[in-house]
Amino acid sequence: MGDRLAGTLRIVLGDQLSPGIAALRDMDPARDVVLMAEVQAECTYVKHHAKKLVLVLSAMRHFARALRARGVHVDYVAIDDPCNTHSLRGEVLRAIERHRPARVVATEAGEWRVAEDMRGWQEAMPDGQEVEIRDDARFFCRIQEFFAWARGRNSLRMEFFYREMRRRHGILMEGDAPAGGQWNFDAENRKALPKTVAVPEVPGFAPDAITREVMALVAARFPDHLGSVQGFAFPVTGREARQALRDFVENRLPDFGDWQDAMKSGAPVLFHAHISPALNLGLLKPREICEAAEAAWKRGRAKLNAVEGFIRQILGWREYVRGLYWLHMPDFAEKNFFGATRKLPDFYWTGETRMNCLAQAVSDTIANAYAHHIQRLMITGNFALLAGIDPDFVDEWYMVVYADAYEWVEMPNTRGMALFADGGIVGSKPYAASGAYINRMSDYCKACSYDVKDAVGENACPFNFLYWDFFARHAEVLGGNVRVAMPLRTLERMDGGKVTKMRERAAEFLKGMEGGMRSA
Ligand SMILES: Cc1cc2nc3c(=O)[nH]c(=O)nc-3n(C[C@H](O)[C@H](O)[C@H](O)COP(=O)(O)OP(=O)(O)OC[C@H]3O[C@@H](n4cnc5c(N)ncnc54)[C@H](O)[C@@H]3O)c2cc1C
Ligand code: SF4
Repeated sequence: MGDRLAGTLRIVLGDQLSPGIAALRDMDPARDVVLMAEVQAECTYVKHHAKKLVLVLSAMRHFARALRARGVHVDYVAIDDPCNTHSLRGEVLRAIERHRPARVVATEAGEWRVAEDMRGWQEAMPDGQEVEIRDDARFFCRIQEFFAWARGRNSLRMEFFYREMRRRHGILMEGDAPAGGQWNFDAENRKALPKTVAVPEVPGFAPDAITREVMALVAARFPDHLGSVQGFAFPVTGREARQALRDFVENRLPDFGDWQDAMKSGAPVLFHAHISPALNLGLLKPREICEAAEAAWKRGRAKLNAVEGFIRQILGWREYVRGLYWLHMPDFAEKNFFGATRKLPDFYWTGETRMNCLAQAVSDTIANAYAHHIQRLMITGNFALLAGIDPDFVDEWYMVVYADAYEWVEMPNTRGMALFADGGIVGSKPYAASGAYINRMSDYCKACSYDVKDAVGENACPFNFLYWDFFARHAEVLGGNVRVAMPLRTLERMDGGKVTKMRERAAEFLKGMEGGMRSA
């Protein structure tokens, strides 16, 4: 290899699209080169939804354009570049040949798989270039800070972590006390949605020339991936993402708390923010989102129960699950507390099922690459838990279908929160629910051909008999968990004949489902 140039090769990954990303700190535009590469391996390690691929590739191209407009030398390797090796490491090594940098700087990867590969970069450097991997400072809590918080604690519950984050970052605080005198306003939140409440429109973003080009590329190159590029309307730049955030804060945040757990046919977003796809790419910073929400409370636009409930999702849950992911990987990916082995039924890929709640949640997901939290947790997640679906299949599904899916946030939510496959690392109990919950929180049951009030008959709601079958199956292993003492006690007191009948219905239903029966 010839003489080195003096500059630094700076690597920006597809979910690191923040102008302040650590790898770009102290950049010298006169001597440094930024490498961005679209690689097949990242597009296909699971068959991501077509809209997610459009989102990431278009946002990368817009980010590169913005850097160039600032005079930065960006070396951008497109996916259809004939020389593309289609692996991240391959592209870094090729860029080293092209630019002969003195050193390489990157920001730590969000996913274990990529981080593992990056750990081997130093050894692979052809000319001994120094490789510096910097902490990702976009989060409120750095990984090492989370480890320090977790060290020596018996219980790593989210609530305690969240309070610590509020104190540490001065968010929703009045001196040393929580704003409004309470840390948590959940008692005022999570109501059922009356028919009369009008649901606001969520504005979309019309694809520009760059996005249209990427849409054509994705449609042609990944024809067998789920979903369609048509109707793509996610924000792809920081400016658009901030516009989406402002719209949420003005029009949906005021009602976020009240209807946080509600579900409604034909209303896939309801009062949720719809910002995770942009946030997880780095187009928005978690701090600016929390500050925008807090400011809405201070100027009287939104009440504290809504603002606190929303901030808890970002400052609490999002940071907490990331910390747990890094604390427990790679073992987390193997967790299967209930030993579940069943395959994922076909209807997760088509939405074709008589169970209206699942048909709605899956159809919304396929159409939009988005579903809100309660659809993910209490419909698709709950069913997979009750039906004993193997967590590997469920994880894969959640990684494929959502535009915001990255393993660090997807896996703890899926294996942990939804499936309890981690045995209680993320949540303290399985989020199992029968049809009664779904009926209370949605309008799905009214249009369903199953009878939500029935648990044993021919037309009984499958969530009912599967719910009791789940507790009967796992009574022993869940026996010591006080948080599920109530359903276990109810089951014990139930008429034995009814329990047998429900378990027979469950066995029959699951057998039918295993055959891939579309009538499931
Ligand atoms: C089984 C399952 C899988 C999930 N997979 C993902 C995923 O791949 N990527 C992802 O970003 N979120 C995931 N979530 C969390 C949550 O459902 C989504 O963040 C949320 O639905 C995104 O929509 P929103 O922006 O409208 O969120 P809102 O309900 O408006 O919440 C605001 C923000 O808070 C954050 N947030 C809320 N809940 C969580 C949570 N439990 N964990 C982490 N962050 C949270 C998100 O950044 C979200 O954008 C998953 C949840 C479940 C139950
Ligand atoms: S009746 Fe049961 S299957 Fe049908 S929508 Fe309600 S909960 Fe879902």
